[in-house]
Formats: sequence, structure tokens, C-alpha cells
Amino acid sequence: MPILDKSELAVMCWAGRDPLETLRELVGLGVRCGQLGIPGDYDLKDAARPWKAAAAELDFRIYTVFAAYSGESYADVATVRETVGFVPLATRAEREARTMQVSRFAYDIGAYSIATHVGCIPSDQSDPSYGAVLETVRRICDLAAQFDQNFALETGQEPAAELLHFLHSAGRGNLGINFDPANMILYGTGDPVEAVKLLKDDLLSVHCKDGKWPTASGALGMEMPLGQGDVKWTEFLKALEEAGYRGPLSVERETDDAQRRLLDIRAGLAMLKELQLFGH
Ligand code: MG
Repeated sequence: MPILDKSELAVMCWAGRDPLETLRELVGLGVRCGQLGIPGDYDLKDAARPWKAAAAELDFRIYTVFAAYSGESYADVATVRETVGFVPLATRAEREARTMQVSRFAYDIGAYSIATHVGCIPSDQSDPSYGAVLETVRRICDLAAQFDQNFALETGQEPAAELLHFLHSAGRGNLGINFDPANMILYGTGDPVEAVKLLKDDLLSVHCKDGKWPTASGALGMEMPLGQGDVKWTEFLKALEEAGYRGPLSVERETDDAQRRLLDIRAGLAMLKELQLFGH
């Protein structure tokens, strides 16, 4: 039986260049839908109209809009803890406000969900930032619900069981998971296949990204082109199939080399297509 034959292949891309040019590049890769990341310094004023027009012209569906924030750094695990998402107190309020703007933008372009890295959720629930991040997430969910959106938490910066507990504690029906198997590996937070089994009821979207396990304590692993890292793709896609996931599979590649990125995404899409066709 083919693996995930009903899942559409997609690409994770970032805003920054001309919207039509950006989406045309994705259509050139053979996909008709994708996820759009919004850098923290991207000017959202009047941004929705050109994105909506570009998507309409190319018959392209942007199904998730990701919020990233100014001041975030992914240098190593300690820096991620200090700078990413809603955990740092100094930027928490402004990032919540920014996420609300991204939610509005997503509504204006007709996206189905918003998503973000909320940061490294503390494993100690008595840590004051745990409750504060939980409240932030609840407020964002409530706003997103008014726009008929889901809110997806990206996996990887904490073990799946802790993420699941956080998600259930939030108690919001429109809160779910954007599952990224590479992040589980890069942060050393657990086997992605086991994590899918645990998070199966809350999967909203999936990143197809690859990476190698960290080789030193406190370091992040290395992100890699699809098929060249430690994600066991056949097992991972089977786990998604068994979890009942039928949404898009978005190839994500994080290198700054635009040419390389495009080539790797093209190869990644071809690999997934082959697995879908022949993954018995
Ligand atoms: Mg990701």
C-alpha cells in the first residue's frame, strides 16, 4: 500500500521577495500549496493584498502562515532557550502582538492556520514562564478562533510528551501541532517516529526536514537535505499514515544559499514522491 498517497506535497517558504516571484518559484517545483514564514522584521502593512493576488493568479494555496520574531537566534540550545518564542520575558508582549498581526495577515490571505516556535517550554511546570507562555498561547488561540484559524506549535524544542501536556493544559480546540521530525533530532528531544505516535491526535501540519543528531552536549544537530540526515523517512511516513494524517507534507530546507536550497527542495520532493508511490 502506498504511503500517504492522499497527502499533497508542499514547500515551506519565507516572505521577503516579491510574492509573485516567490510563489512562481514553488509552482516551478511542481507544488500547488505551501506554508509561508513571516520574518520578525517583515512589514505586514499592506502586505496581504499582493500575497493574496499572487496566490490567486497562480492558483496556489498558502495553508499556514508562520510567525518568527526579531531577536531570535538558533546558534545553540542555550541561545534558543534565551531568545526564541514567548519564553523570554522582555519580548513576550511584543511577540504576542506581532503574532496577532500575523494572524490577521493569515486571515486576509485566506490561510487555514498560523504557527510558531513558542520557545523551549520549561519542563518544570512551576517555572513562572510556563504559565505565562500558556496564557499567551491561549490568547492567541482565542484570536485565531475568531478568524476561523488553527494555531500550530512547532515540535522539537521539548520532548513530545511535554509538548502534549502543554497542549492539553492550554485546553483550546484550535490548538495543534506542526510536526517537524528534524527538530526532534536537532534538539535531541526524542525519536520522531515515536513522537508522531504520541502526538497523532493533534497533527495539523507536517514539515519534511532532515537532520543529524547533535554530537556534543548543548549543541544543536546539523540540518541536512532530505534523505541525508537521520530521519527514517519510510517509518516516519508510515507513522503519519497510521496516525490518520492526510494533510500536506511541506518540504523545509534552512540553508541561506538560495540556489542550493532550491535544488535540495526539488530533490526532497522527488524523494517523497517516490516514497509515496513505492513505499510498500
Ligand atoms: Mg520546521
